[in-house]
Amino acid sequence: MYTATNAIRPFEKKVWLATPTRHPEMMRYIQEAYDTNWLSTIGENINEVERQMAERIGCAYAVGLGTGTAALHLAVKLAGVKRGDRVFCSDMTFSATVNPVSYEGAEQIFIDAEYGTWNLDPDALEKAFRLYPDVKCCIVADLYGTPAKLDRIRETCRAHGAVLIEDAAEALGSSFRGKSCGAYGDINCISFNGNKVITGSAGGMLLTDSREDADRVRKWSTQSRDAAPWYQHSEMGYNYRMSNIIAGAIRGQIPYLDEHIAQKRAVFERYREGLKDLPVSMNPFDETEMKPNHWLSCLTVRKEYMCQQTRTDSKAEFVPEHGKSCPTEILNAIASINAEGRPIWKPMHCQPIFSGMPFVSLDPASPTDEDIFARGLCLPSDNKMTEEEQNVIIEVIRRCFD
Ligand SMILES: *Cc1c(COP(=O)(O)O)cnc(C)c1O
Repeated sequence: MYTATNAIRPFEKKVWLATPTRHPEMMRYIQEAYDTNWLSTIGENINEVERQMAERIGCAYAVGLGTGTAALHLAVKLAGVKRGDRVFCSDMTFSATVNPVSYEGAEQIFIDAEYGTWNLDPDALEKAFRLYPDVKCCIVADLYGTPAKLDRIRETCRAHGAVLIEDAAEALGSSFRGKSCGAYGDINCISFNGNKVITGSAGGMLLTDSREDADRVRKWSTQSRDAAPWYQHSEMGYNYRMSNIIAGAIRGQIPYLDEHIAQKRAVFERYREGLKDLPVSMNPFDETEMKPNHWLSCLTVRKEYMCQQTRTDSKAEFVPEHGKSCPTEILNAIASINAEGRPIWKPMHCQPIFSGMPFVSLDPASPTDEDIFARGLCLPSDNKMTEEEQNVIIEVIRRCFD
């Protein structure tokens, strides 16, 4: 652990990675649902959240669901993925991006990331289509709020007749070439989970330009009732619809989306400035074409400045070295002052549950995302973190390189 000789006094109040931000409007809309007795999966809050999100993101239809994971599951169904099919997936992401492929009995083919955005590499995707020309679906995540190279990815999918699912769970409010994340896929998913940039404590949404698809998702999410005088079902159903109470919380957050993003951007910029003379880089994006929401600020330690770090399936260790550091040391140091950092999402092809699954990389001997995972970490990125708190975190990182 962090040594006492260079210890900094821990925060009295923990500085978290990312926490919800309360706004009085949330209670107003929840109260309205209560007062009007729409304590159900029907109601004005759901209608409004769907309308506002569709408008904001620029998709014709939005369907409110219980979670982002439920949205991804129904997206995979909508894409027509069947048992035994294979689906190209972002490799470095949260497992929720890729699990729905397994829910449908299909198999993932993981695609390496690229250094420019840390997202699915369009060149590796082209290689994947050469290796597996029959694949008809691709799921791409916008990691930490940074858009993937969505135009190229979309073109490649179109050229191969594959459905593109965009997992914009972390990227609400981000945009690429003036178009919102969550509008690039044929089917798009967002999340209102408790640590996302706006939250209803939970919640998710599927967005599409197809009215027919939106109707199917709405039907599936409410147990797939047929139009009949009794409960009749000709398809498998799910209880995935958004609650009108949760929707009230989300509705009260929407007006603050841009404010939260501005705060997140300020956090990112203070880190970039405060760490600029250290051998680290912030998570990259294309400054001219991308407007990330900066959901999480992350850094990577430059290769030559990495001390020795070893990670097994359950343990991380490092050997301290003068002038060098590593994510394990920095995460320990951050934890030692009562703040919360987090490793980068461990690549899916390295996960025990997916061992042996196909993985496509331009450099299979040393995949890009394994390198980012080894050298990277997520910094405390709460939008309510004060400048003083952030300065302490920056100082603690600096001391790791002493
Ligand atoms: C949060 C998240 C999800 C899942 O969203 P939930 O609403 O928690 O189910 C999916 N994909 C990514 C990349 C996420 O970060």
